[in-house]
Amino acid sequence: MVNVPYSGHTNPTLPLAQELVRRGHDVWYVNAEEFRDRIEATGARFVPFINYPSSPTEQQKKTKCFRAAYDTALSLEHKFDLLIYEMFFYPGIKIAEKLNIPCVRQFSQPAWSKTGIADATRLFRLSSKLIDVQVMGKKNAKYMELEHKTLISAVLNDKPVLNIVYVPRLFQQDSASFGEDYLFTVPKSLNSPIARKIPYDKMKKPVLYISLGTIISSKGFYKKCIRAFGGKEVSVILNTGKVPPETLRKMPDNIYAYSYVPQLEVLRHADVFLTHCGMNSVNEAMSLGVPMVAMPFINDQLANAKRIVELNIGKRIRAFLSSGKRIYKSVCAVLYDKSISEQCERIRANLQVESSMEEIIDKIERITLSC
Ligand code: UDP
Repeated sequence: MVNVPYSGHTNPTLPLAQELVRRGHDVWYVNAEEFRDRIEATGARFVPFINYPSSPTEQQKKTKCFRAAYDTALSLEHKFDLLIYEMFFYPGIKIAEKLNIPCVRQFSQPAWSKTGIADATRLFRLSSKLIDVQVMGKKNAKYMELEHKTLISAVLNDKPVLNIVYVPRLFQQDSASFGEDYLFTVPKSLNSPIARKIPYDKMKKPVLYISLGTIISSKGFYKKCIRAFGGKEVSVILNTGKVPPETLRKMPDNIYAYSYVPQLEVLRHADVFLTHCGMNSVNEAMSLGVPMVAMPFINDQLANAKRIVELNIGKRIRAFLSSGKRIYKSVCAVLYDKSISEQCERIRANLQVESSMEEIIDKIERITLSC
């Protein structure tokens, strides 16, 4: 398995690694050092990136991870039977071709189709362009001898025989257009590597959880939330991402701020979730029946937010322009909307997980054996 060092892309792939190991397969997982513990916890053999800084800055992570993943995977002197990659690291298919082995692709977000992309917003296209320029870059695309050099054309055209989509089928836009080579499932999230003592028993209901995920952090937004919710009849668990909470203004008693939380545990105590709409966060909220206030910024977050509204499991607000008052009003509107809470409960109870991990691994084994 080979992947990029981002939680959103790596976390959902870990249950597959764990299950493959449980079935007796020898799994090697290429990723950056920061993922060593999480990967080793699955029982897989962790293979750290070569030619990669030991403590990369966010910028280095962006510009160096593709080349490092590519070079590391091709440097291994071991005869592998199969390569499993995540769609964002689309050169995965090229590595498999060079190793002359079959490959399987995973989507940590809804699968992409030509019609879906044709309907995508300009902001989505712009985000993809940025990835082409900042993460791949012309030099790397040439070095890797890629036929499809952009994220969009590679994801749409370079299709392996099996695609595992970590999204419930009901969330997938245009789901009927995907054939039997696409399996939809919600991976059982593994326990968070970090424990935190959060005083849930002190918190008055309702509880709001706010998070922008592991990539986006905004001091201005956190301050806005503190002003909007401080002293109100709601307890807030504020995930401040890369911003240390002590650098924010004095914390009101009803706001509990942390720079990292065990999110699944927090969501089990939350009545509403203000989210940036990363797919893992959305999956976790749906699995636990927590209604959402969707505040998407980039990439798939935009389509995920649209789907949240279509499915009536939350409401959407604008990322940069929403005032504290608007954010507060939207949270209340979601909290007290009975149709939303009923729909969240319906989806939680009926989460259609078309494919079990067992079925996925059966398919993977058949692909490996037939080659
Ligand atoms: N996460 C967590 N604690 C945090 C922040 C995030 O456990 O403080 C986990 C979260 O549960 C999810 C993943 O990290 O599984 C974030 O993935 P997502 O797709 O939601 O967003 P991204 O970080 O990729 O933008």
